[in-house]
Amino acid sequence: MSIPLLDLKSQYAPLKNEIMKEISDVCDSQYFILGPKVEKLEKEAAEYCHSKFAVGVTSGSDALIISLMVEGIGAGDEVITTPFTFFATAGAIVRVGATPVFADIDPVTFNIDPKEIAAKVTSRTKAIIPVHLFGQAADMGPIMEIARKHGLKVIEDACQAIGAEYNGRRVGSIGDYGCFSFFPSKNLGCFGDGGLVTCNDEKKAQLLKIFRNHGQSGTYMHDYVGGNFRLDALQAAVLSIKLRHLDDWSMARQHNAAEYRKLFAEAGLTDSIVLPREADYPVRHIYNQFCIRVAGGRRDALRQYLHDQGIGCAVYYPLSLHLQNCFAKLGGKPGDFPVSEKVSGEIMALPIYPESTGEQREQVVKAIAAFLA
Ligand SMILES: *Cc1c(COP(=O)(O)O)cnc(C)c1O
Repeated sequence: MSIPLLDLKSQYAPLKNEIMKEISDVCDSQYFILGPKVEKLEKEAAEYCHSKFAVGVTSGSDALIISLMVEGIGAGDEVITTPFTFFATAGAIVRVGATPVFADIDPVTFNIDPKEIAAKVTSRTKAIIPVHLFGQAADMGPIMEIARKHGLKVIEDACQAIGAEYNGRRVGSIGDYGCFSFFPSKNLGCFGDGGLVTCNDEKKAQLLKIFRNHGQSGTYMHDYVGGNFRLDALQAAVLSIKLRHLDDWSMARQHNAAEYRKLFAEAGLTDSIVLPREADYPVRHIYNQFCIRVAGGRRDALRQYLHDQGIGCAVYYPLSLHLQNCFAKLGGKPGDFPVSEKVSGEIMALPIYPESTGEQREQVVKAIAAFLA
């Protein structure tokens, strides 16, 4: 029996009739860009994320870019972020003309280490982009403290973490902006590309809406140069339906993570495999990924072994961003971020999607035990 890393068909099947009806409504209306479906989703998403405002955009990548644009961050400015994240986090900084400055991660949560941030602040620093990686909140308390002390904006990259919490607060509601992605494989995914920005400042929310529509503040009147970052109604309609199930899916992921922990312990593998841990600060981890660490240079061999057994697994992320070719001119070199570099050589994600079964998890753990034996 092969086991996929993610099976979106099993999520779609029970929702198909409801979703098709909504899609048909949108087609009947022939109202495809922004409009009532997008406004409805924005209201629901703001409430879900415990934020005052939410603005639907074209993708998580564009959510980051538009937040930076609204803050006027660009050439000559520095933005501090993690080297251990999906490319888009640092890509957005470069796209607006600013310079990403990396700060190493915490080995337990894989999130940016606040102690490392403090050392990177200069007179050119304008913002911090912490990423809530794999569905677990970064240590926002000390991050907000550093930001306040130096007058920096905080843009939360919550693309993997919708519904995750830090100290009882939802991610995306703590910093100045929260950026979300609805890429199909995220915990809340649409049927194409989509994204959202949350914020608590009404003026900034208004600016986000202006910037997502080419900076247009009145009909064909442009106070700013924005872009086309508009969410479409079909995606919003799908997301409104799926959002109602998100808490159930997150609970299923948490259940699956707990079951993996039990199975790995029973198999006596917890010395050779490092299981993902929850932070020391209070979190609601929503397990976008369940990433184990395999030491001793055996990760790639294990990945190949599982692949040969038909078990889906993936490496997020194999190369720290400071070592990517496109960032060579930033001058990053091996050894600059030892934790990020070590983790990227050891990490591997296992299937954790809500509909996956206990038998599948048993099979995954058995296969890993066989490989290590
Ligand atoms: C997916 C993701 C993004 C980008 O989102 P898209 O919707 O694919 O543009 C940005 N940051 C992180 C951490 C992500 O996981």
